[in-house]
Amino acid sequence: MNDQQLLRYSRHLLLDEIGVEAQERLLASTALVVGAGGLGSPAAMYLASAGVGRILLADGDTVDLTNLQRQILHEDATVGLPKVESGRRALARVNPEVDVVPLPERLAGDALARAVARADVVLDCCDNFATRHAVNRACVRARVPLVSGAAIRFDGQLAVFDPRLPGSPCYHCLFPEDHAVEEVRCATLGVFAPLTGIVGTMQAAEALKIAGGFASPMVGRLLLIDARTMRIDSIALARDARCAVCGTPTAAAQTMG
Ligand SMILES: [Zn+2]
Repeated sequence: MNDQQLLRYSRHLLLDEIGVEAQERLLASTALVVGAGGLGSPAAMYLASAGVGRILLADGDTVDLTNLQRQILHEDATVGLPKVESGRRALARVNPEVDVVPLPERLAGDALARAVARADVVLDCCDNFATRHAVNRACVRARVPLVSGAAIRFDGQLAVFDPRLPGSPCYHCLFPEDHAVEEVRCATLGVFAPLTGIVGTMQAAEALKIAGGFASPMVGRLLLIDARTMRIDSIALARDARCAVCGTPTAAAQTMG
């Protein structure tokens, strides 16, 4: 680290849990943020300010006036721009040292697999189950840790899955794909603005711990946040031995194709 970096990251360097070594790991790390919306905005902001070296920012949408109530990467002046371009500009203002790679698409298939393979940690900040499951499959296959967040109405969720660890569940263990799940999206339902900030910021915290290799990422637990009362519950998650994605290799291979 040069003198400017020693100053910029000094409040991390003062922490026993982080220090120079973990900060250098952060500077050398790559994070994939899937979705530059309500969750991806604060998540990417903190990854950038905290010194994650490269941020792959994926989103196929353009900035809309209805986004600005909570998607703090974007602003009035960037309405109409691709979210990844609006996000790239915002992150460059926070920390010009960070290499922000815009991926202006809804990641799927090979593009998703390539992006996940480049990452040390993946943050699922998207708003639909199809992408959530595709991201989970790609992370299990590439053995890349996944920090999953969700926020709708006043209800938030956070979970960390680390396929490198034996016994870690995956997103599919928790929400099997074949179960009929109501697709709830903030496009049609409301969402309390700061809730996306709370969950997205927690996602950044978990991703930083994973990429920097410090403290204890909350693998194997699901955090449930009720922003009406600000009650936060934590429940233990078990791996589903019959999970089609992370279960037996044969079953997983069939599902992952
Ligand atoms: Zn699983």
